[in-house]
Amino acid sequence: MKPTHIEHLGIAVTSLEETMPFFEFLTGSKCYNIEVVEDQKVKTAFFKVGEVKIELLEPTCPESTIAKFIEKNGGKGGIHHVAFNVENVAEALKEAEAAGIRLIDLQPRKGAENLMIGFLHPKNTCGVLTELCEQPK
Ligand code: ZN
Repeated sequence: MKPTHIEHLGIAVTSLEETMPFFEFLTGSKCYNIEVVEDQKVKTAFFKVGEVKIELLEPTCPESTIAKFIEKNGGKGGIHHVAFNVENVAEALKEAEAAGIRLIDLQPRKGAENLMIGFLHPKNTCGVLTELCEQPK
């Protein structure tokens, strides 16, 4: 699989508006992109820390997996997933499947920031929801 780097950390938040000032302070930078990902029922806000991004995820409706994550977490946000950058998501997913890792996404799909993404199942990744991403070509 050989990821090149951690692409981003996904952090679930109850409100972008309330949490963005802290992340602006923490990263010493302004949020550079806010984007709704209809598919995942989330509104995202991105910050940069060197090459790594912080992706804040706010649920857009109660059916959002992020809303369910927050509910399970006692109504609070927290680290939701770790995303690794790979050259080719489709191939990386196949490799993971061949290694016996359960996939959430059998095929790559489009995520925020025009990345092609695919999730591995946390049951097989030490409880850490793991996303693979490929940069737009
Ligand atoms: Zn992500």
